[in-house]
Amino acid sequence: MATLLPPRETAAPPVRAVESRDPATGEVWRRFTAPSALDVVAAVERAREAQVAWAGRSVAERARVLTRFREVLYARRQEVAQVVSRENGKPPSEALMAEVFVALEYAQYYAALAPKRLRPHVEKTRTMGTMLKTVTVEYHPHGVVGVIAPWNYPFQLAAGAILPALVAGNAVVLKPSEFTPTSGVLLGELLTEAGLPADTCVVVPGDGATGAALVQAGVNRVHFTGSVATGRKVAAACGALLIPCALELGGSDAAIIFADADLKRAARGLAWGRFSNAGQTCVAPKRILVERAAFEGFAAAFAAEVRALTVAAATAEGAEVGPLIRPEAAATIEGQFAEAIAGGAKVLARAPVPAGAGFFPPTVLTDVTPEMRVMREETFGPLVPLVAVADEAEAIAIANGSDFGLSASVWTRDVTRGRRVASQLLAGTVAVNDAVLVAGMSNVPHGGVKASGMGRSHGELGLMECVEPRAVVTDKMTSARQPWWFRYGREHDRTADAFVTALHAPSWLARLRALPRMVRALRGSGT
Ligand code: NAD
Repeated sequence: MATLLPPRETAAPPVRAVESRDPATGEVWRRFTAPSALDVVAAVERAREAQVAWAGRSVAERARVLTRFREVLYARRQEVAQVVSRENGKPPSEALMAEVFVALEYAQYYAALAPKRLRPHVEKTRTMGTMLKTVTVEYHPHGVVGVIAPWNYPFQLAAGAILPALVAGNAVVLKPSEFTPTSGVLLGELLTEAGLPADTCVVVPGDGATGAALVQAGVNRVHFTGSVATGRKVAAACGALLIPCALELGGSDAAIIFADADLKRAARGLAWGRFSNAGQTCVAPKRILVERAAFEGFAAAFAAEVRALTVAAATAEGAEVGPLIRPEAAATIEGQFAEAIAGGAKVLARAPVPAGAGFFPPTVLTDVTPEMRVMREETFGPLVPLVAVADEAEAIAIANGSDFGLSASVWTRDVTRGRRVASQLLAGTVAVNDAVLVAGMSNVPHGGVKASGMGRSHGELGLMECVEPRAVVTDKMTSARQPWWFRYGREHDRTADAFVTALHAPSWLARLRALPRMVRALRGSGT
């Protein structure tokens, strides 16, 4: 009798839970059991089966589901904003703008773009040598896309990865962050309500192990958003499996303020950019570089903005800056702050905070040095250094002297100069006289260079990452055989030279002389 293998489930990791918690109070208000690695494989298999029928629908039909999703999301907008706020800690009105509004924009944009952009594309004949061939490029879905999402914008970032993947004909398995599972589950529910067929988007609330299992579970592509450390692991796993992945990772974005900038506007824009979402935004300005002539003026205006911030639980009236996602998150930011102070940095301004473990006061530092962690690492909380720079060249050098390259901003009344400097900054997106918003503009390709990641989300490029182009080259078969096929010999040598000469000789006369032989060969009258 054959020996039975023990049940495969025994190899699965022990049961783990992920929780939706209110970051301000620590109250757990929903709990999920993280799936085993086998459950994740099963989820991918379900998605794979569903994907076949989904890909069989026209792009226009799939786009209509996005349009219905937009209607459903709009109708349930306040509920979504409340859930995200309760789970992530940002004020509900911020959740409405930064999560719901942005997701509505993605749905509208991709529903309109996909039917046009994913239409098979006919390439024009390039030279006479290939004029009897037609080239059509088709855009096919990858299959099942694994989307691994972070907690800081749990709804819109997941939607920004999922909607283009779906409209392109993929099925999706979403692994939301262990800190924000309900936002992911709600997104899945809304898609179902919008008419997305069962299992076309499967949500697996789980932890890091669930994310690692998803990468290994047979997905055809991974869209990962999160930290550099995890991104490296995901990239290595995808590399070993030879599956494509997009990595949207961290940043240490520079904001450059020139002396001619509208300093008040820059102070307001950068206070919002740096401290909204409690400073936990990938594309937040994290190093503010100010031209020396404007340093005092900007510092005073910025300090006034920061001191006036209302730091409070999301439920409090007028709350602007909420708590960090978890009290433990404060340890990193406090470590970066303490190291800077020990090295001689000064506190220019701090906003008052309520009592409670989850709050870190919005803080502005001066007198920092390039070696300090606040200048070298990502500061993922409400802490920012101001640095005086001599001129444009120094500003660009400091901005680019970072391991990261996610986004950046330039503030000046001289828009021509702003554009010129923007072009020299090593970053995926650069805003002139604005910050952060670019990451939520549906038509703007978003992504980073250097340690900030690879690949692009959003915009047309984000859609095209969701497809595998397939070039179909059709020959009109006017000849019995092609001149470059076998029957090598002297005649073949002459024909080959006629091709090269007719198409590439510098002398037009030589080209003309070689042409008849080439045409004869193409029509099949050559040997
Ligand atoms: P994280 O790397 O800790 O987690 C991100 C996701 O990866 C979570 O869902 C987590 O469960 C999962 N995960 C953990 N270990 C894994 C593994 N081994 N394999 C697969 N998945 C795994 O990041 P976070 O704390 O959730 O997010 C904050 C970071 O994300 C910051 O650095 C921020 O800058 C970055 N971020 C980048 C962008 C962007 O668009 N570039 C957007 C938002 C956040």
